[in-house]
Amino acid sequence: STIKIPTLGTFRLFEPLECGFISQTFTISKEGNRWFVSFCIDAERLPVQQSEGSVGIDIGIKSFATLSTQQVFDAPKPLKQAKTKLATLQRKASKQVKGSRNQRKTYNKISQLHARVARIRLDFLHKLTTYLAKTFKLIKIENLNVQGMMANHKLAGAISDLGFYEFKRQLDYKCQMYGASLVLVDQWFPSTKTCSNCGNKKDMPLSVRTFDCPACGISLDRDFNASLNILNWEPSA
Ligand SMILES: [Zn+2]
Repeated sequence: STIKIPTLGTFRLFEPLECGFISQTFTISKEGNRWFVSFCIDAERLPVQQSEGSVGIDIGIKSFATLSTQQVFDAPKPLKQAKTKLATLQRKASKQVKGSRNQRKTYNKISQLHARVARIRLDFLHKLTTYLAKTFKLIKIENLNVQGMMANHKLAGAISDLGFYEFKRQLDYKCQMYGASLVLVDQWFPSTKTCSNCGNKKDMPLSVRTFDCPACGISLDRDFNASLNILNWEPSA
């Protein structure tokens, strides 16, 4: 589909709109070397009836989100590709003559790629949070805190990288918008170290991908086990 902007002309849209719109006010902006247009429309929000009950979500490093329904959401592939390319360009820039024309060109590419990474990430988070808020009546996530995560460098990098705070922010307002409930699970709750079947606790180093319970013998994917614990968590009185 296309968009017609008075005095500027008609432009092709990257993604088609669901139906035709008329809007009088446009905001045109430029980010990196790309142009964006945003506009407001008057629309009535149709009530959403979530088809599923409760869900527990584990936010992790290997997969961005693991649900107690066994659904897994990974960071989009283009994001990983862009990051690899970013690292290559940064190495390249560091070897080029400082302030040279070529180095400026590389820096320009880097800034465009940064903008692309940000857009892909935001798009991924928006699609995921919309899906969650429209699908589940009750959503439980861990209320990860900054200090606790920053103490663990590996975890800190992965989580800030994928935008946990943006995820939580979007989920919070979309749950309100669509009438779902969001429960923040106590950040000190040992969701990873607890057996979701019998409650037995054991140490779980980051490298261990499976929760093998010595007490009841159950064997579950580490993140799936955590998501079940998050689902079953109840605030203590
Ligand atoms: Zn067990």
